Amino acid sequence: MSTLYITHAACLDHQTPFGHPERPDRIRAIERALEKERFTSLIREQAPMAEMESLALAHPEDYILRLRDISPREGLVRIDEDTVMSPGTYEAALRGAGGAVLAVDEVMTGKVRNAFVAMRPPGHHAERVRAMGFCFFNNAAIAARHAQKKHGAERVAIFDWDVHHGNGTQDIFWSDKTVLYCSTHEAPLYPGTGALSETGDYGTIVNAPLSAGDGSEAFREAVDTVIAPRIHDFAPDLIIISAGFDAHWRDPLASLNLTESDFAWATQKLMDLADRHCGQRIVSVLEGGYDLEGLAKSTAFHLDALMGRETGT
Ligand SMILES: [Zn+2]
Repeated sequence: MSTLYITHAACLDHQTPFGHPERPDRIRAIERALEKERFTSLIREQAPMAEMESLALAHPEDYILRLRDISPREGLVRIDEDTVMSPGTYEAALRGAGGAVLAVDEVMTGKVRNAFVAMRPPGHHAERVRAMGFCFFNNAAIAARHAQKKHGAERVAIFDWDVHHGNGTQDIFWSDKTVLYCSTHEAPLYPGTGALSETGDYGTIVNAPLSAGDGSEAFREAVDTVIAPRIHDFAPDLIIISAGFDAHWRDPLASLNLTESDFAWATQKLMDLADRHCGQRIVSVLEGGYDLEGLAKSTAFHLDALMGRETGT
């Protein structure tokens, strides 16, 4: 069984202002890391543009059309202080969501064991009707709902280990007991949500906030004692990872001190759970990660684990 890697060059055409951390070089750094010999056995596919029907699984149609309509023909349009649209943004965002949908199709039909989608802009801050925090469409949420609607998955578990809380994903699934949303994140930090007390209408939101300066030990304890037991009890039909790598110690936007080995370890934990509950099915989508070296190494370790082998360096 194999691991699928999905990306598309259109995601390099999502431009952000000079000095913005969420930049095309992020994907270039990942691509360079995956040129190594040991990644030649990855199955590679191009991310297609998501259909309106898929986007509408997580966002109302008027929100989607509004984003399309305010797309600039030239220059940049500012959505909020740090979220901007360039002429290439809308297509990049469509392909980010489309890549997540394709990953679900290939994993749920057993063509591949698991999949990683390396696209930008990221998605986990995008709420039902609000683009924010560099995000426009919530790719992880669309993937979860697509697995339910098209492939009959009853329960989907999402683990979001991006250093920022996925307020968007939490917002979308707040009243949905068929999706378990679990997050480790630094608090206090942008966007300010993700307290332990935020548990959703059915107790299917699981927040495990960490403190600035926390590293491997605190992260692994949160996964072992809080997140993994909840995913186990939930017995999902698919596990989705919101894979942000900005909790890496090198990252300039936050102050957790994880290493690439921690991401490999967490991936392995989820693979054990997926092996037990859902035929090994995992779909992982890129979220943040703003230090190019930390991002590239972490992604390589994450993929090594998904490919079922001990991580190299
Ligand atoms: Zn982040």
